[in-house]
Amino acid sequence: MMKRYALFGDPVAHSMSPLMMNAAFRVMDISARYQAVRVSEASDIIRLMRSLHIEGASVTIPHKVSVIEFLDEISESAHEIGAVNTVIEKSGRLRGENTDWIGVKRALEESSAPIERMRCAVVGAGGASRAAIYAVRKNGGKAIVLNRTRERGERLARQMGCEYASLNDIASVDADCLINATPLGMWPDTGSSPVDRSMVYRFTLVMDTIYNPLMTKLLTDAEYAGVQIISGLSMFVHQGAEQLRIWTGKEPPVDLMRKKVREHLENERN
Ligand code: NAP
Repeated sequence: MMKRYALFGDPVAHSMSPLMMNAAFRVMDISARYQAVRVSEASDIIRLMRSLHIEGASVTIPHKVSVIEFLDEISESAHEIGAVNTVIEKSGRLRGENTDWIGVKRALEESSAPIERMRCAVVGAGGASRAAIYAVRKNGGKAIVLNRTRERGERLARQMGCEYASLNDIASVDADCLINATPLGMWPDTGSSPVDRSMVYRFTLVMDTIYNPLMTKLLTDAEYAGVQIISGLSMFVHQGAEQLRIWTGKEPPVDLMRKKVREHLENERN
């Protein structure tokens, strides 16, 4: 029988997840359909999963935090990050997990620098930032939160046990890696970057969590400066691959998933 999986969020119309997940299911020889469903209330996720017999779901903006209260249990990482991006149904119980941090971890592992020695300046204080900080700290690295709004940045730093610095003070931050976890530079606002181009020389590694465009202004500036870069595409592919592992117990075709999304984004621009 065909299994059902879904992405729940609002908006979801432009998500690359259905393309990536359905391509993966085909190669994994699993009879399944993954569909994007726009829901305005987090409680709708639970209602639809139960009534439509959906075995696994991805959860995106704006429900990653609000869905937690409706789940039967959540994993330790989802609890510490304070957000769920993955739900699995098992014997009638709905369990929440977070694979965004695995996406960041695996993306950072693609670089030549060992995470346990990284000092990462993470720009932003939302869900992506929390996942990035968790990934870095869990693997023995150090994280410093840089945020536009001081109060939010300081609160996050306190909660996650790391340092805080104002985004305006980036010139004096002691870090070798920079991670953008803000929407600055995301399509259609492609001319924006969270940091001035003169600052990218300070780092040996720059990662963006944005994957549309594949090359953000930040990454373009960093590459021009000779700095090693990691696109948000890596995070996106690895967080999705981990969801497939959780739902199916099988190894997903990571390279094919990356190729599908990359090709789609490249064709979209031409
Ligand atoms: P969020 O919760 O809305 O947080 C956004 C953060 O960005 C806030 O801390 C905000 O600062 C900061 N920010 C927004 N506009 C800014 C500006 N003009 N100048 C300076 N700072 C600004 O967002 P999120 O859910 O963490 O997502 C952030 C990014 O991560 C998104 O662009 C998304 O594409 C990406 N993401 C990627 C993946 C992936 O798989 N690749 C997964 C999840 C998310 P204030 O606190 O001052 O408002």
